[in-house]
Amino acid sequence: MKSGNFSPEWASLNNTERSVISKYHQTAPIQVGKIAKELGASVKSATLKAGISGEIKETDGQILIRINRHDSKPRQRFTLAHEIGHMLLHRDRIGDGIVDDILYRSSLSDTLEAQANRLAADILMPYHLTMEKLHEYEDIVDEERKYESVARDLEVSTTALKIRLGKL
Ligand SMILES: [Zn+2]
Repeated sequence: MKSGNFSPEWASLNNTERSVISKYHQTAPIQVGKIAKELGASVKSATLKAGISGEIKETDGQILIRINRHDSKPRQRFTLAHEIGHMLLHRDRIGDGIVDDILYRSSLSDTLEAQANRLAADILMPYHLTMEKLHEYEDIVDEERKYESVARDLEVSTTALKIRLGKL
């Protein structure tokens, strides 16, 4: 795990935002849909254009997040957490909408996209819970299989987990 349990993006959230998210950080998998709702976003599962994973718009102060329902479940969860990242970190940049492709590239800069990805990782893979899960599966000698088990419980991809752990 990289230095510090949370990203600088997490540290930049206000207390209310952090406490809403933390409330859902006790059990795996993290109920990311509930977090989005409690933070004030409407979330819809939608058929988006091929190659598009999600989008976020703001209309009359109301945030709408749409997730490509044809993506795998772990991916849909990561996309939702990523869009929550845009909502919390880049609300003033949403404008007419942010559309994220499958590599989480949009009209925003790569720096802003990386910020949304780091916050998404903090939302879906809180440090203490991720460590707890690694401990739970410590008897699995094969590293790859161990990560698969942890990722399954957290409902994230093994790739996302490995990035979180600094293994990729
Ligand atoms: Zn994005």
